[in-house]
Amino acid sequence: MVSTTLPTTEDLRTRARTSLERVGATVPDGADLHARTPITGENLFGLTAATAADTEEAIAATREAFLTWRTTPAPRRGELVRRLGELLRDHKSDLADLITIEAGKIRSEALGEVQEMIDICDFAVGLSRQLYGRTIASERPGHRLAETWHPLGVVGVISAFNFPAAVWSWNTAVALVCGDTVIWKPSELTPLISLACDRLLAQAAGEVGAPRDVHRLVLGDRTVGEKLVDDPRVALISATGSTRMGRDVGPRVAARFGRSLLELGGNNAAVVAPSADLDLAVQGIVFAAAGTAGQRCTSLRRLIVHRDIADTLVARLTAAYAKLPIGDPFDRKTLVGPLISSTALDGMQDAVARAQAQGGKILAGGSRRLADAAPQAAYVEPVLLRVDEQTDVVREETFAPILYVLTYDAFEEAIALHNDVPQGLSSSIFTRDQHEAELFLSSEGSDCGIANVNIGTSGAEIGGAFGGEKETGGGRESGSDAWRAYMRPATNTINYSGKLALAQNVSFL
Ligand code: NAD
Repeated sequence: MVSTTLPTTEDLRTRARTSLERVGATVPDGADLHARTPITGENLFGLTAATAADTEEAIAATREAFLTWRTTPAPRRGELVRRLGELLRDHKSDLADLITIEAGKIRSEALGEVQEMIDICDFAVGLSRQLYGRTIASERPGHRLAETWHPLGVVGVISAFNFPAAVWSWNTAVALVCGDTVIWKPSELTPLISLACDRLLAQAAGEVGAPRDVHRLVLGDRTVGEKLVDDPRVALISATGSTRMGRDVGPRVAARFGRSLLELGGNNAAVVAPSADLDLAVQGIVFAAAGTAGQRCTSLRRLIVHRDIADTLVARLTAAYAKLPIGDPFDRKTLVGPLISSTALDGMQDAVARAQAQGGKILAGGSRRLADAAPQAAYVEPVLLRVDEQTDVVREETFAPILYVLTYDAFEEAIALHNDVPQGLSSSIFTRDQHEAELFLSSEGSDCGIANVNIGTSGAEIGGAFGGEKETGGGRESGSDAWRAYMRPATNTINYSGKLALAQNVSFL
């Protein structure tokens, strides 16, 4: 069941080069940054980072392109996104390979990430004919009151390593049909997949006759992101990453009266009630907690179980954890790939040690795997840890597969525990009791942006708006009416009465 061998770094380098060449991207050759793979923990290629002058030029170019793009009718803008979606379909396997190589996702999840990109393109193409404004009944005779939506300008997308392509596509597909242009600063940990996405979008732009500079990529670390954050020509900063990053970015964008859309950390919980279908709950919990090696913003980190079923559920979870295949994410049998880095492993081990010092007991997992085969990689068994209280460490997001198990007696106590963390991204309840399910979804229930019933916390569809409350940042991306964040509304009053009538019956002259 468990992979004991790993591909070599040279195999992975060849595979990455082949994928890049197949999408038409230039294989990088530089010395400022490194493309690295968590599969072996070793470097693949050197890359050139954007200098301050490069970033300045890219902002100016996307701003210039915006002046044309904003006048292109929205359904025509949709043609660019339709073509991008077709190219993503054609290159699904190559893009998934790059995601696995750079982020360590198992094959099925990497393919899922590309599918999410295709889905949002389809959504955005439809949206390009549905950027509706409202007509409002005027209080004055012979007047029409309407709301018109206009493009915002340049959108700066700053993205995290764990959804290295999907988050870009959520923002970019929607921003482009809204008439904005995009400048993308991806995670420094995932430059190759961003080169591939940028190349495919450039190809699509060339084929449909859109300005090349509707999209620009700038590679580099946070200092490159900071240039976008501080530049008043970047109308909206859509930043996805840690709460630490959002705490810096939010106030800086606000200081220049820019707009920001923040998608930050989560500390997601599931309540398991006595009536829950435990077969379904175990499957949902294990995928949400151990899947993606616990490296989704929506990963399940806290389980709040009714005391009467806690021992039974814990026994079943412990058995499931013992059988999780951990190893090479390209191996079809593997369910848990590597952590992104040894720093992430250190953070996980530190959190486990703190939880133990605060009274927690390990129920399953925690050992490092494959350290001989790949000393620089970070393979680890997902951890199940029982805690009596929601101590400091439980209230933090540790971006690794640790699931803290808490118990409750009264349902109100479960909801109180659930909401008593600083983050507010995703949540779920496993129950067959309709009263509990509805209460959990109500205004007195979960305080998160995502609240589910009988399904885990991770794996959202693109049709719903995605995002969370409190320290998760309050942003919404992807489906529903999240497009409004990428446009500005104007209220128009049109007087066709031939007489000047003032609102609220004001008399003047
Ligand atoms: P990170 O915060 O380290 O980096 C994210 C991005 O922000 C990177 O591109 C980085 O270079 C950039 N950055 C960091 N500091 C910056 C600054 N001061 N100014 C400008 N740019 C800056 O996050 P990560 O480790 O790549 O990703 C994991 C984190 O992202 C987790 O906390 C996870 O929950 C969160 N995440 C949230 C969502 C969501 O939608 N809510 C989605 C994915 C990941």
